[in-house]
Amino acid sequence: MYILLMGPPGAGKGTQAAELVAEFQIPHISTGDMFRAAVKEGTELGKQAKACMDAGQLVPDSVTIGIVKERLAKPDCHKGFILDGFPRTIEQADALDSTLVELGIKLNRVININVPVEDLISRMTGRRICKGCGATFHVLFNPSTKDGKCDKCDGEIYQRADDTEETVTKRLSVYSSQTKPLIEFYQDKGLYSEIDGRQPIDKVFADIVHSLRGE
Ligand SMILES: [Zn+2]
Repeated sequence: MYILLMGPPGAGKGTQAAELVAEFQIPHISTGDMFRAAVKEGTELGKQAKACMDAGQLVPDSVTIGIVKERLAKPDCHKGFILDGFPRTIEQADALDSTLVELGIKLNRVININVPVEDLISRMTGRRICKGCGATFHVLFNPSTKDGKCDKCDGEIYQRADDTEETVTKRLSVYSSQTKPLIEFYQDKGLYSEIDGRQPIDKVFADIVHSLRGE
């Protein structure tokens, strides 16, 4: 099962990816992990990517695509994969297309876990983290019972700077303007499925599986 997984930050993509790994026994390949592995293995492309990152520059598409290609050619991908965080642009989507043709792979489905912006803002700005043990809480969905303190260790609970409304809104608007053309790209190919990410985790997963199996 060759899956491309999309979804805004806070939509629960990580949780669904983990369930898909278990269901289909295929690797979850995120862009971050792929870069870290290439750098660690010291491949030629990994070295080039590291040089860019060390210099605070964007890794050029030619390098990124090369790393994706090397990763997807590895033996653990012979039954499928869940590609997450790539492509981000139409240029990358075109390059992925040619790479898949070269590897003799056909994408089964592009799954987008969609959650309206208002819901994402309340999900993400409600997150709180314990300074002591790292436990996570949510002011609406999973509040601590001890006013401002961690239930587990009595540690202080705080909000990450990344989770404030201003930062979250900005991240989401960048994400949505990047993603819109990709959605159209995969709609045109008849590969696109949108899943309602506001549902309970089990229901989201069931919908994804139905969509993958063409039911
Ligand atoms: Zn704690």
